Amino acid sequence: MNLQSIILLSIILLVAAIVAYRYIRRQKRNGGCGSCNCSCNCNNMCKTVILALIALASQSTAAQQPALIPYPSKVDIRNAKPCIIRNTLQISAPDDLAGEAAYLAALVPQHCKTTISHSPKADITLRIDSSLTASQEQYTLSVTHKGITISGASPHAVFNAVNTLDQWILTKATTTKHGTSIPPVEIQDTPRYRYRALMLDPARHFLPIPAIKRYIDEMARFKFNILQLHLADDQGFRIQITTHPELTQGQQHYTQDDIRDLITYAASRHISIVPEIDIPGHTYAILRNHPECLCRNVDTTSWGRRLRTDVMLCASAPQVYDLCSDILNQISALFPSPYIHMGGDESFISTNWGQCPRCQALKAQLGYTRDDQIMEYFFSHFWDMLRAKGKKPILWVEMDNIRPPATRYLFPYPQDVTLVTWRSALTPKAVQLTAASGNQLIMAPGEHCYFDYPQYKGDLPETNNWGMPILTLQDSYQWDPGYPQLNQPDEHIIGVMGTLWGEAICDINRAFYMTYPRALALAEAGWSTPDNRQWDSFRTRIYPILSHLMHRGIPFRVPFEIGK
Ligand SMILES: [Zn+2]
Repeated sequence: MNLQSIILLSIILLVAAIVAYRYIRRQKRNGGCGSCNCSCNCNNMCKTVILALIALASQSTAAQQPALIPYPSKVDIRNAKPCIIRNTLQISAPDDLAGEAAYLAALVPQHCKTTISHSPKADITLRIDSSLTASQEQYTLSVTHKGITISGASPHAVFNAVNTLDQWILTKATTTKHGTSIPPVEIQDTPRYRYRALMLDPARHFLPIPAIKRYIDEMARFKFNILQLHLADDQGFRIQITTHPELTQGQQHYTQDDIRDLITYAASRHISIVPEIDIPGHTYAILRNHPECLCRNVDTTSWGRRLRTDVMLCASAPQVYDLCSDILNQISALFPSPYIHMGGDESFISTNWGQCPRCQALKAQLGYTRDDQIMEYFFSHFWDMLRAKGKKPILWVEMDNIRPPATRYLFPYPQDVTLVTWRSALTPKAVQLTAASGNQLIMAPGEHCYFDYPQYKGDLPETNNWGMPILTLQDSYQWDPGYPQLNQPDEHIIGVMGTLWGEAICDINRAFYMTYPRALALAEAGWSTPDNRQWDSFRTRIYPILSHLMHRGIPFRVPFEIGK
């Protein structure tokens, strides 16, 4: 409760007390309640008391929403005896939830011993409940004086419930002489969206595998389930392609074994890794070793001596399609994720394809009238190959303009391509175009989801922020990914993604600092229902969560401005 609310509530209670005092005095004087004056005063007093109760109730709703992020669908706090956990915590779980039981045991404070068994008398029972059918991630969590029961539609759902329980214990439990006392609660929960992602960019600044694992640990706590890795850009090509060792030569990169290890680790946290190989723009790291894949008009006199961000793969060079097919084949085999991101953004079409004699001949041959139509030809080389492998391609959505007004897609995206909206101010158009064309849509609008943007004016030296606009915690929180204000269909919106473009993110500590607390806001946008999301509640709930991030040694920006 803030100072304003306390003052308001105090005034209401003071007025109620004065009215009650006058009423009682009048009652004593009149010896009963029969006169006209008295009934008027009775009404006034009732109104005042009701107002006070409403104010109290509305304030306490915000104040009493427990510090759970993302906020669950339904939280019913019981006024009953607490659950007492003594020195040894006993967890009961079937074999197919052994991983979730081990994860729970690892979250419990170190001074408390844990045992995992099938004992029906355990303190915490984990189980699969096939009657939970709202989603694969639906769960219930029950804390009573008899013990704690977690039921989930799947192991992933049970894992989500364990993270909710962890937050409940961290923020609500107290230590008593009998043991740890956990207040009773009944929680029912299921996500709003199935795709809840963060994106790291090791292409710009390499991030070692242990650092990414640490990042995954924190994502999982807040129910993110996708990590997109931007593995190739102008600055670097970071993943081993066994048939093309030249692509990664002399650069820090991940071997395929590194990636397998990371995928396994992420899977233990129910996080799927979506690889991104950005083509046909953002490809200097490829072109540096493959000049035969360049457009004919490109001046290569300073080639290899300075970074180029304005070159593209030539659409008419057959070597381009052989090389990209090799890369995408190996990526498809390596990553179990059904999704493969192929970029498709920020290509300098007019200065590459638009001025390349080979690409212009191709354009004429295909009967195209615009250079951007060549994009359709370029990507058509890969769709069938990916479909045959059961993969779903993702692209950053591009239109005929980079800011409003835009009227159409840059080129006709096939219906089975999932698109990501990202350019600031173009999301309403993206929602409209995807709804009309049947493409699924992931929401990463720059004005809410670009976590490489500075969080506050002057927060970090501007040279490191390279002139990007400010994106405050409140900007990250106050939006509805369903964009109800557009009155457009939103069933095709599958989720949200926070992006950390890596130009100024030189290590994982900086990545954490830029991610939190804004990712807490995004976690709630992706998971919680709109009626459970209020800024005043959120800005109160984040404090215990931030305190525990600090205990775990996770860097984050203190959002001092929201305490004003
Ligand atoms: Zn060309």
